[in-house]
Amino acid sequence: MLDLDRLEENYEYVTGKIASACQQAGRSPDEVRLLAVTKTVGTDLINALYDLGQRDFGENRTRSGVPKVKELAESTPDAKWHFIGHLQRNKVKDALSTFTWIHSVDSPRLAREIQKVASARGMEVQVLIEIKTSEEDAKLGADPESLAVLLDTVLASKNLNLRGLMTMAPFFEEPEATRPYFEKLRNLREQLGSERGISLPELSMGMSNDYHIAIAEGATIVRVGTALFKGVES
Ligand SMILES: *Cc1c(COP(=O)(O)O)cnc(C)c1O
Repeated sequence: MLDLDRLEENYEYVTGKIASACQQAGRSPDEVRLLAVTKTVGTDLINALYDLGQRDFGENRTRSGVPKVKELAESTPDAKWHFIGHLQRNKVKDALSTFTWIHSVDSPRLAREIQKVASARGMEVQVLIEIKTSEEDAKLGADPESLAVLLDTVLASKNLNLRGLMTMAPFFEEPEATRPYFEKLRNLREQLGSERGISLPELSMGMSNDYHIAIAEGATIVRVGTALFKGVES
């Protein structure tokens, strides 16, 4: 059973909390985009969320994500699909059949492969560089210290449009504890802006537990799954 009233309540709660976090931070709500992370739900709930007005969606695996996006092509014509998980080079062709945004570019080799496939298909891909902001071994992303080569590779790739940076903070019971990781990403963006004169408008950071903190620290895309779908399926 799907409780679509609950989905609507969750959606209103999350969009309301985004709006109030923006207001508290003195930011306009149009500066922050909600990315609905649908990896745990089926196409019925994605269609329902689309009908509520949601347009940006994210998946973290090609094997489960690509068939879902294909199935949704007709019912969600204006949806934008973002790939947010670790992307292996041998999955790039598959990923680019449905995703136009990739948040998780973390190595020059991956960037070159995306460029190769995008160029062969005559498409432009919106990319973010994923940065490892924590010491946790399990967390993915490029080391801020070894970023130069990756950045050069992405900037030299004609079919890649570098939009910004992405990170994942470690999980803490207390959301406030995530703040330093988001601050680190924002500072890195400023540093790259002044050192290299590049603009990196998007900061993809913040998940169900901590998106209000990420917004206070400058997030422009928050990736939210659990908070949207809790209590909807029983
Ligand atoms: C699953 C996932 C999210 C969403 O996490 P929730 O805690 O369910 O909101 C965000 N970003 C990435 C990379 C994910 O894999």
